[in-house]
Amino acid sequence: MQPLEIQATLDDLHDKYRPLQAGTLATYIPELALMNPESFSICIVTADGQCFKVGDFQQLFTIQSISKVFVYGLALAEHGREKVLAKVGVEPTGDAFNAIILDEKSKRPYNPMVNAGAIAITSLTKGKDPTERWKRMVSMFERYIGHETVVDAPTFRSERATGHRNRAMAHLMLNFGMIDEKIDDALDLYFQQCSLAIDCVDLAVMAATLSNQGRNPFTGVQAVPSCYIRDILSVIYTCGMYNFAGEWAYKVGLPAKSGVSGGLLVVVPGRMGIGIFSPLLDERGNSVRGVKVSEEISQRFGLHLFDCNHQETS
Ligand code: GLN
Repeated sequence: MQPLEIQATLDDLHDKYRPLQAGTLATYIPELALMNPESFSICIVTADGQCFKVGDFQQLFTIQSISKVFVYGLALAEHGREKVLAKVGVEPTGDAFNAIILDEKSKRPYNPMVNAGAIAITSLTKGKDPTERWKRMVSMFERYIGHETVVDAPTFRSERATGHRNRAMAHLMLNFGMIDEKIDDALDLYFQQCSLAIDCVDLAVMAATLSNQGRNPFTGVQAVPSCYIRDILSVIYTCGMYNFAGEWAYKVGLPAKSGVSGGLLVVVPGRMGIGIFSPLLDERGNSVRGVKVSEEISQRFGLHLFDCNHQETS
């Protein structure tokens, strides 16, 4: 893949899918309902630090569920594989991301990419008080992004005011002793992580860091111990696209995670990270243009992990 070919492909895909108006904005809070449905950007960052971008890639949006990927990495780094696995499983659910269900037998949430699992993972963040825990979390995100970031305060306030379903999940897990009593602190931390403002380039740099064994290709900073990259990528490969994860794995064949504000993070292990932002969502909560663009990038560049020919298939 030559640099000119990558940029030409991004330009072409942006032109091709810009007219696609299918899908709807998330409306559960006003801040998401007010997003511009026309917003559309694609960015690729290679593991050796080349950056290709098209569209309104400086447009900020809230990271939402994509944050779950990185907070899972933080929990693994802070507690190790065994303890994290004892709290949250690694099974895809086939249910919606906000389903209020736990594994019948173990009482664990099914995986860290559904809301219940993500809240349980967030509750594991170390620190003596909420401020210290948030600081740890933010500095983790900044290792991936490579610069300072802020929380979008209106989004945070709305998430917190309306997050009754997430509260219900936290109470259910408290009932089974799967998280500790400070559920309001855990939920605030979860709403804060979801409200982090990033742009499409940040998203691609974060994906590239995951593709590069946890090392940010621009700053050289190790964002997460490399031994946990396989855990993170396996979980997002099987659970990252909600109840579309199976079809995604079959068609695109790359670890990925979407968020309800329209961000989509795709990792090509060892090679590159892809960030796509377009807020019109399909019925499962995935970006419509994001899914289309990913399918084409995977196909055109032969990126499907199990495509042994590494060439275009029909
Ligand atoms: N803040 C959202 C929630 O907790 C994140 C969900 C998402 O992006 N799918 O419901």
